Amino acid sequence: MKPQIIILGGNFAGLHAAFELHHTLGNKADVTIIAPEDFFVFLPSLIWVVTGSCSPKRIQFDLRTAIEPRGIHLVHDHVVRVDVANQVVYTDMNKFSYDYLVVATGADPDWSVAPGIGPHTGHTHYVCSVPWATNAARAWQKYLKNPGPLVVGATQRSGCFGLGYEMVLNLEHSLRKQGKRSQASITFLTAEPFLGHLGMGGVGEAPKKIEEVFKKRNINWVANATTKAVTETEVLLEDGSVYPYAYALYLVPFKGRKFIFDSPGLGNERGFIPVNDRYQHVNLPNVYAAGVAVDVTQPEQTLVPIGVPKTGYMSDVMGKVAAQNIEAEIMGKPPRDLPFADIKLLCVMDGGDMAISLVADRIFNPRKFVFSNASWIGHLGKILFEKYYMWKVRNGLVYLP
Ligand SMILES: Cc1cc2nc3c(=O)[nH]c(=O)nc-3n(C[C@H](O)[C@H](O)[C@H](O)COP(=O)(O)OP(=O)(O)OC[C@H]3O[C@@H](n4cnc5c(N)ncnc54)[C@H](O)[C@@H]3O)c2cc1C
Repeated sequence: MKPQIIILGGNFAGLHAAFELHHTLGNKADVTIIAPEDFFVFLPSLIWVVTGSCSPKRIQFDLRTAIEPRGIHLVHDHVVRVDVANQVVYTDMNKFSYDYLVVATGADPDWSVAPGIGPHTGHTHYVCSVPWATNAARAWQKYLKNPGPLVVGATQRSGCFGLGYEMVLNLEHSLRKQGKRSQASITFLTAEPFLGHLGMGGVGEAPKKIEEVFKKRNINWVANATTKAVTETEVLLEDGSVYPYAYALYLVPFKGRKFIFDSPGLGNERGFIPVNDRYQHVNLPNVYAAGVAVDVTQPEQTLVPIGVPKTGYMSDVMGKVAAQNIEAEIMGKPPRDLPFADIKLLCVMDGGDMAISLVADRIFNPRKFVFSNASWIGHLGKILFEKYYMWKVRNGLVYLP
């Protein structure tokens, strides 16, 4: 009987794990992805969905076209629980036994960070999924008719600050393109200790370059900001300061998916999967995790608590390493360790008509190599990268750079 490998989640980390397993194990194992969506979404381009320069359709493709020719199965269903003692995954409609499990289900936004935050029960827009970005885009078009103060924020415990910079710069660029820039003040409220910290201790010249761009574009900022609450018209910080807004978009911390909380022994108290440097669960040797679902601790003590960014590139690498270690176990090969901190940093923060590109030999300080650059070439590169990445993944060519 072939080992049954089940991968929960079919986007960045899940797909990379699946393709790597196909590449290394061929037909020596049965690989199944379980995901509630049967399409891949290139999430980084959602920033342009908000400003109206990209359609959601452009950045999605049918998962089946990518995986079925490679013998990887797709179960289009929603995981509700994992029984880790009996190695069974329960979905809305079925149950599946596994020999190895990879949890690559990303995370949910934690709106509880401050009252009034978030698009459902609160007042701020959000960008991290197609429906949220589409709603934010609709509101942005309405806002453009009569612009007022714009606030973009990243709360305490957030991790993906790079996305915050991309949003504030792209919204600023959108206002400029419409000839309405002078009608809006723009403020960026961030829990980072300084502009460009990015949850990674600052990367090379990034803090300086971001500050230069903000000054040039007349964007105000507040670092060490603890967001206390958001009303229909104002953002309130813990220090008593108040920021009125006509449009506000906020990034919040993540928490694990609900099924992780409903699966005793699988995740920690925040719903993330505790793993070792092989992306193997610290207590369950046949359970692996990759991507945003993985528990990573911020190594720095900051005045306002912040999280760690888990980007697409990092997620892809974690997915591959988890898969390589499953292959190593099945084939009796030595395992591969890759501490999260030692994953390379490749990041392009788009600014609408330019971008800040960052490359470093590792995620956290100390680093031996750091490159940072701000230019229009980065912006062009980011647009081309979307096309390249989608082509690469659609064709299962995940070993390409
Ligand atoms: C707007 C935006 C911009 C970004 N920009 C960049 C960037 O410029 N560069 C970069 O490197 N990264 C960027 N990122 C981050 C990058 O997209 C993430 O790091 C990456 O998507 C994480 O991959 P993942 O597979 O862990 O999670 P996801 O991509 O979120 O995938 C999670 C998968 O799990 C599935 N799932 C969820 N719940 C369940 C369930 N109950 N049962 C089964 N399956 C489930 C989902 O359907 C999905 O298939 C950006 C993210 C966003 C949102």
